[in-house]
Formats: sequence, structure tokens, C-alpha cells
Amino acid sequence: MKKFENKVWLSSPTMHGDELKYVTEAYETNWMSTVGKNINEVERMISEKVGCKYAVALSTGTAALHLAMKLANIKQGDYVFCSDMTFAATVNPVTYEGGIPVFIDTEYDTWNMDPIALEKAFEIYPEVKVVVVAHLYGTPGKIDEIKAICDKHGAIIIEDAAESLGATYKGKETGTFGAFNVISFNGNKIITGSSGGMLLTDDLEAANKVRKWSTQSRENATWYQHEEVGYNYRMSNVIAGVVRGQIPYLEEHIQQKKAIYERYKEGFKDLPVTMNPYDEDNSEPNFWLSCMIIDEEAMCQQVRGETDALYISESGKSCPTEILDAIASINAEGRPIWKPMHMQPIYRMNPFITRDGNGRARTNAYIDGQALDVGMDIFNRGLCLPSDNKMTKEEQDIIIEIIRECFK
Ligand SMILES: *Cc1c(COP(=O)(O)O)cnc(C)c1O
Repeated sequence: MKKFENKVWLSSPTMHGDELKYVTEAYETNWMSTVGKNINEVERMISEKVGCKYAVALSTGTAALHLAMKLANIKQGDYVFCSDMTFAATVNPVTYEGGIPVFIDTEYDTWNMDPIALEKAFEIYPEVKVVVVAHLYGTPGKIDEIKAICDKHGAIIIEDAAESLGATYKGKETGTFGAFNVISFNGNKIITGSSGGMLLTDDLEAANKVRKWSTQSRENATWYQHEEVGYNYRMSNVIAGVVRGQIPYLEEHIQQKKAIYERYKEGFKDLPVTMNPYDEDNSEPNFWLSCMIIDEEAMCQQVRGETDALYISESGKSCPTEILDAIASINAEGRPIWKPMHMQPIYRMNPFITRDGNGRARTNAYIDGQALDVGMDIFNRGLCLPSDNKMTKEEQDIIIEIIRECFK
């Protein structure tokens, strides 16, 4: 098949013009630092859009997660329950503070934290006070169930809504369900500042702490007076200019991403695959990335080592490795599912809790054809499809066609 002349990306920045206007305004008025109108506006617009009282603009989503861990008062040796199938940035900040991530397995309905496994985890570690929950690929997780379990055990939620800005659950935006919530404006997110992040909360005292910590924890004094450790985590007014220009286009991006998801769904309807699922009665994702998972019976043999993969091509069957190769061969970009944290060498010794009450990474994900944990199973059978909102319908048709070929 013919290669695309211009690469079709997984998800790349989409600019509209206003970004440059606000960046230029910062330049011309010389507000080129971490103070200025763009920052104030971005904080105001996001807290209004998401429906939280306070928003603090920071350098990255990871920085926001780090300060959320500090707000949650995580101390050396504390166990913290975390989503397992997610980007490492969800859990690394727990480690920065000396906490020990305990990974909670994934459920099949939304590909997020499994409330049943979470309940099991509280049986094993009743002392845990913090649960870090991500909404994968822009799909809200089982928020009501997770919240009820956390309330019952007196734990707070830190919501990692880095991928799900604009997604709603029962009409309420993600980024409002935790005590402390995080969004990201990293370059491939649904809207971007090229980088950037935010901490969202309804707690004024918490918001003030984050403001102070993120600007080196200066006390109110004539000189640089310090009573606690500080960080250089504030968002730049230049970056905020880009974000400010993007916010009005969030809904448009979501509509484009949704159309991409629907076209894939239609294009694959007679293949032995399903799209990344969501709770159609209660949630509206932002459709940041379209993903698919291959039916177990339609998987050809695929073996993954720590850094590479092999498969045996088989008629009527396929696997993520074969499909990702096919996508790459026409100059488009797909990606494997986030490799679960319990399978990562750095977190291999951390506790990992499945529905059955316990679990561990195993080199072989299947015994008698049965997956041993959900995260590993979705990682083995799933993949992320090119989901760039500048991809044309014609380009997407070609991608659909080449994936269909894999199953012939
Ligand atoms: C992107 C992302 C982050 C981190 O955001 P940055 O702004 O890149 O630091 C955190 N969690 C998840 C789930 C993400 O996808």
C-alpha cells in the first residue's frame, strides 16, 4: 500500500492562531516569566470549564501530581493505591515522596481501576489513605464505585485527569471527583501548551500551598525567607498563552476525536475486535485516543520480551505487533497500550492486587488460555490507533483498510 506523504500521528498539537496572539502579547508587554495575564486567564477559564473552585497552573502534569502527593501528606514507606494500567507519570510522584505504589488491577468495562480489586486491596492494606486514579485515554472510570469504597475506608482520591480533560461522568467533568485533581497540557494531549499542567481543587488552603510550593516556598519577608522545601514548578506566562488560545477549541477537538472513534468502530464492525469501551449510560469520554482490542480467538501467536516482540502471522488472525507494523509501514503512528506498572522492571517488586485478592507479574500471561490479570491481557491484545484530529477521512479509511488486511 502507498505510504502517506505526511505522517499521520497518534495525536499531535493542533493550533488555531489565537495561541500566537497571546504569546505575542506576553512578549510585547514583557510578561515573559511565571507571572502574567495568560496565567491568570488560564486558571480562571479552566476552573470555570471544569467546575472546580481553584486551579493552579504548573509546569507539567507530573509536577501537579507531585504536589498533590505532598498535599495528601504521603510519607516515607506509606502504601498508596494506584491505577496499574497507565502512564508512569501517574505513579512516579508517589515514589518521589517515598511512598510505595500498590497497583490495583484494571476492569474490562472502561479499562480503568477495578473497584472490586480496590475493595480487596483495602482488605489487605486497611491503613491506606490515598488512592491515585487515572482515566485512561479520556474514558472516565467507575467513579461512583471507587468513591464509595474510598469514603468507606476514609481514603482520599487524587484524580489523574491528564488524558481526560473535558470528559464527563454523570454530567460532571473529570478533574472534580478527587480531593486533588490533575490535568496536563503536554504536547500530545487533547489541548496543549506544548507543555504544562494544573492542579484542581475546591480547597482554598490546598491551592494556596501549591502556589507557594511551586514558586520555591518563599515566605512573606523582605528577603528570601524559607520555612519549607520549595519547587520551581510554576507555569510560564508564554506557555499559558498557548493554553489560553487552545481552551476555546477543547469542545471542537473532542467532537473531532469522537468522529474518529466512531469511524473506526464502523470500519471494524465485522472484524473480531472491539473499540476501547466506555459506560454509555453514565459517561461521555473526550475520545483522546481511539484504541482497539482483538478477540482472544482472533489473536495470532505473539511473544513480547522486555524491549521487543515477535509474532507468527496466521490467516484470519492478527496481533497488536502485526497491526502496529502495518500502520507504521504506511507512515502512520500507532502505539501499544500503556504497559501496566506491575509489569515494569522498576515496579516489579511492588504489591499488585487483582480481583482474586492478589496477583503478580508473570512472564506468561496465560494459563490454559486464561489471562492471569486484566491489565496484562489488555496490554497483550490491545493497541492505540492513529487518533490525530488533523487526520482526514480518506487517511483514516486507508488505515482502516490496512488493519482489515491484517485479518485476511
Ligand atoms: C500525560 C500524562 C501525565 C503527565 O503529564 P505531563 O504534563 O506530561 O507531565 C500524567 N498522567 C497521565 C495518565 C498522562 O497521560
